[in-house]
Amino acid sequence: MLLNSDLENIKGVGKQKAKLLYKELKIKTIEDALNYFPFRYEDKTKTISISELKDYINSNISICGTINSVKIAGGNRLVAEIKDDTASVELVWFRGMSWIGKQLKPGITITAYGKPTSYNNKINITHPELNLYSNSENDTIAPVYKSTEVLARRFLNSKGIAKIQREIISIIKKNIADIPNTKEINKENAIHDNVSPDFKNTLNDNEYTSKNKIFIVENLPSYIIEKESLMDRQEAFLQIHCPSSLQKADEAIKRLKFEELFYLQIRINKGIRNSKKESREETLKTHEVIDENNSEIDKNLFHNKEDDDLQKGFIFKDRTLLDNFLSSELDFTLTNAQEIVIKEIYRNMSLGKHMNRLLQGDVGSGKTVIALMSILIAISNKYQATMMAPTEILAEQHYNTLKPILDNLGIKSSILTGSTKTRLRKDILAELEMGYIKVLFGTHSLIEDTVVFKNLGLAVIDEQHRFGVAQRSKLWKKNMHNINETNKQSIANNTKSQNYKTSIKENIHMLPPHILVMTATPIPRTLAMTAYGNLDISTLDEMPQGRKPIKTAWLKDSSRLKLFDFIKKQVNKGRQVYIVYPLIEESKVLDYKYLEDGYESIKRAFPDVPIGVLHGRMRSEDKDYEMDLFVKGKTKIMVATTVIEVGINIPNATLMVIESAERFGLSQLHQLRGRVGRGTEQSYCVLVSGYKLTKDSKERLATMVRTTDGFEIADSDLKLRGPGNMLGTQQSGLLELKIADIAKDECLVSKTRDIAKNILKNDPKLIKKENEVIKSYIKKLIEQGVDMTGIS
Ligand code: ADP
Ligand code: MG
Repeated sequence: MLLNSDLENIKGVGKQKAKLLYKELKIKTIEDALNYFPFRYEDKTKTISISELKDYINSNISICGTINSVKIAGGNRLVAEIKDDTASVELVWFRGMSWIGKQLKPGITITAYGKPTSYNNKINITHPELNLYSNSENDTIAPVYKSTEVLARRFLNSKGIAKIQREIISIIKKNIADIPNTKEINKENAIHDNVSPDFKNTLNDNEYTSKNKIFIVENLPSYIIEKESLMDRQEAFLQIHCPSSLQKADEAIKRLKFEELFYLQIRINKGIRNSKKESREETLKTHEVIDENNSEIDKNLFHNKEDDDLQKGFIFKDRTLLDNFLSSELDFTLTNAQEIVIKEIYRNMSLGKHMNRLLQGDVGSGKTVIALMSILIAISNKYQATMMAPTEILAEQHYNTLKPILDNLGIKSSILTGSTKTRLRKDILAELEMGYIKVLFGTHSLIEDTVVFKNLGLAVIDEQHRFGVAQRSKLWKKNMHNINETNKQSIANNTKSQNYKTSIKENIHMLPPHILVMTATPIPRTLAMTAYGNLDISTLDEMPQGRKPIKTAWLKDSSRLKLFDFIKKQVNKGRQVYIVYPLIEESKVLDYKYLEDGYESIKRAFPDVPIGVLHGRMRSEDKDYEMDLFVKGKTKIMVATTVIEVGINIPNATLMVIESAERFGLSQLHQLRGRVGRGTEQSYCVLVSGYKLTKDSKERLATMVRTTDGFEIADSDLKLRGPGNMLGTQQSGLLELKIADIAKDECLVSKTRDIAKNILKNDPKLIKKENEVIKSYIKKLIEQGVDMTGIS
């Protein structure tokens, strides 16, 4: 039997059960089973005295006592009274009465495990697990596994699964006893001469087999195990399924979490490729060509982001325009955080290392001016820059706020969106390719193939979580358009890296533009570190001076009159108000009805106030028109759908009303609220909800009232929704972890990240002897089809 043998080889499993386990839980092999971990333990070793039961209502405990009496009560239940030195208690069964009754005889001593409940001040334990013979295997720490209804019906409930695990573990234990030195081999991590030849042959499978025996091989270098005081791998698998104590179980969990997170970080930071996938994108092909290491496995394992020429970036040292801007154009004082971040960015861009940076900053923290300053650095160095936003409204806003400043500095800019007219588009594209236009703002339209830059030095992507990974990486490749076909051919033919280096010098445009992606922190720190492990991160952790925290209230539908009063007061003070309605994808018709009804009722309530409407179905000219009226303060109330969710900046707007707030996710609510509180006036957010709320939506709304801190909200969101839903679909697979939890195991996430980064820095190809074990485990992961190519 090997680790990858079918589970039906295990005693007590059989074809039927094996089939079910595969269908329900995707457990096919012995290894799959071993990797199916319990989610908690029941400590059956802890017995309490019966008089203490009242302190343990509804929690699992064991008691030990002598049976006093056994009787059928009320014709429908079996009641056994047991007593110890301190008190007595009744154990009750409604099912299986005759079977259990047969075994319970007054006078015998038993251990009962279960949950005491209190009914009419009387404590009893219903359907306890019994142990009629003390000190048997049942007096242990029992792992609890998730099962399904289908499995439970076929005796594969948690206990049934535990039994299979025990069987596997006992086989492993026996193997260890037979070949005592395997443990030593494990510790040494690698291939040693004292191992018999047929042993060696199977080492590649990451398991030691000798005469068909199962062993679990270490996958972490011994220096890490020692330094972090980790349990060794085989021991961890034994202990997680059959712990000798709760403490050992904890150690096993920690060890397995560690390895899971460690390999996650290795994958992220190294960009491991799946050797089975052939369809690769252009840039990666180039990487393959230049890979000096001709070993097939190395070529498949890594595209070396860290250490080859493509890691080099444009050197932008000239900062004249930036300094001009700071001295004559900037009309506020930068926050300390902004100063630090622009220094980080300048350093990065001026040193010739390719910038791939995530700028995190809560809504309103002032990311736009950072984008502008970065753009100025690129322009000073005679390169072009582009800034991409997820919506037309936002792209227009950026253009409208930044164009006057760029004009003053003598820099030509333009904007390209889906609604740019064909004639104008043609002109823009031509001027862009000639290099007349220095800064191009826009939406996704920017990534179309027809958009060709003369020399793109920087791409800024605002609200990056709105874009898919593929869209972003297309921007990154913009400069590739400039290599002509002959050059492409010659690069492809040059397998020798020296030639490649020469050709890259001739083709400076081969370098990718510096990249700055910006986000309003709906990404908790741990997630950012994990999903964006290969990005540098800059953080704006400070709000501009003079901002007052937004006051948030949560109203039920019926308090609408009070709300209208409040709206009137704000409008009378000269302020502006947003009223936002949800968009529910499944029922677009209904959505607009909500919006329409809302608009009508607001109109009736405020007959003298100019009101605007904005939603995604409007033609973009109409959107611009409405937006423009609101920006200029000609309309006072803006009734809208979530099209205004991201980025909109109108400092005079001081009240955000969110209708049916229970329908929004936390980060969306936070983004919406971020539309106000952008000036010096006190701002407010009112969440209006119905009465029937789920526990989660209550929690979301309460979180919004409690805090305005984007990080806290993001963490809370992560806990409510789980990491899989936090990012675009591309990344969710990455975060489906077996045992570790990105949100809860923050400490391990950052520790494994540091260790992994350090290893890859000092030994990028993992050729050092002590790191061989990592390399061979990665190989195994790839053989299993692990695909990490989508991470950016
Ligand atoms: P976000 O980070 O949400 O994109 P913006 O860049 O739109 O925020 O900035 C919000 C508002 O704050 C804008 O009106 C901007 O001009 C202003 N702002 C940015 N930085 C400062 C600062 N240091 N002092 C005062 N106001 C600032
Ligand atoms: Mg913004």
